[in-house]
Amino acid sequence: MIEIRLKAELEAIATTGLTRRRRVLESPCGRIAAVDGREMLNFASNDYLGLAGNAEIAQAMAAGATQWGAGSGASHLVSGHLAPHEALEKEIAAFTGFPRALTFSTGYLANLAVTPTLAGRGDAVFADKLNHASLIDAMQLAKANGADVQRYPHNDMAALEKMLAASPAAHKIIVTDAVFSMDGDLAPLPLIFALAERYDAWLVIDDAHGFGVLGPHGKGSLGHFNLPASPHILLMGTLGKAAGVGGAFVAGSETAIEYLLQKGRSYIFTTAAPPAVACALSKSLELIRQGDALRANLMARITQLRDGLAALPLRLLPSLTAIQPLIVGDNEATLKLSSALWERGLWVPAIRPPTVPKGTARLRISVSAAHTEADISRLIGALKELA
Ligand SMILES: *Cc1c(COP(=O)(O)O)cnc(C)c1O
Repeated sequence: MIEIRLKAELEAIATTGLTRRRRVLESPCGRIAAVDGREMLNFASNDYLGLAGNAEIAQAMAAGATQWGAGSGASHLVSGHLAPHEALEKEIAAFTGFPRALTFSTGYLANLAVTPTLAGRGDAVFADKLNHASLIDAMQLAKANGADVQRYPHNDMAALEKMLAASPAAHKIIVTDAVFSMDGDLAPLPLIFALAERYDAWLVIDDAHGFGVLGPHGKGSLGHFNLPASPHILLMGTLGKAAGVGGAFVAGSETAIEYLLQKGRSYIFTTAAPPAVACALSKSLELIRQGDALRANLMARITQLRDGLAALPLRLLPSLTAIQPLIVGDNEATLKLSSALWERGLWVPAIRPPTVPKGTARLRISVSAAHTEADISRLIGALKELA
């Protein structure tokens, strides 16, 4: 009986204290989250620029729904590609500097479309060990398509170069997060790009946490490192984090994007996102482009937090980004600290293995441009008292 097996596994999860539960928010995503009738200061979302609850974007979505209806009605290649989708693609291409872009309903689907479509038998894929789960799943699909998939130790350029040099593959693809989601650190993209050029490889970059946050105008990690929109780069960005709405894009050369459009299964076999989402995203892109004040506030809050926590006995990982991980180590101690913060009205999630390596359980503090100086002071004060 499948039912019996599932129950046993759920019980096993419960006995190891790893059962996950969802908190129900009774308010829109923002610096304050209403939960169980309480007002929690929110350090748990990926809404880095505070745009998820932005009124102009919500209005663009409402106006979009009025004009274009609720749903797209079909996949992009059948009849679901409406004018707002087309406009958004062009705006993203112009913003990122690539010749062309394709939009997806989620970043997960975008990642599933890229590597498994580009890499098959005779090809090799080289992936950072700390890549996001969606990229790991994409690697499984690439493997099923016959690609040789190798994982290199986190940001280890010597190991990556050795693998590239030793591989006899016809086509090579390097896949990396630009900002690692549990550590907040950056991939050394200029070095990886140089290796990609030296070994005639393509470079697939997942900029889920850099887009909107890093670089001039929030163009992301490529802008941060001043890297070109090279035909050897495919840039993926998500639109549900800093962009505050939902969805994702892949930008690249005319040929690469046309190929994904023709062959990417997770692009082809799914209904296009509601057109109103595209309308909201066009507005969000505009706010990101003009969002220097938001980014300046975000960076000031990050600096304030890092300075404030410097003397703490716990280690704050070296991160320039909105993701600020505070390493506790022990699973139970991490949970306790997270609960104690919760009691004080501060929502900071505990991240434990297997999401992160054993012995590195942590608080994952997400800073947002919506946070005030007083908000960060409150968190620093509580952590000083509890840690
Ligand atoms: C969140 C995330 C994704 C998935 O994006 P969704 O739009 O949430 O599906 C992919 N890659 C990374 C690095 C992420 O953090």
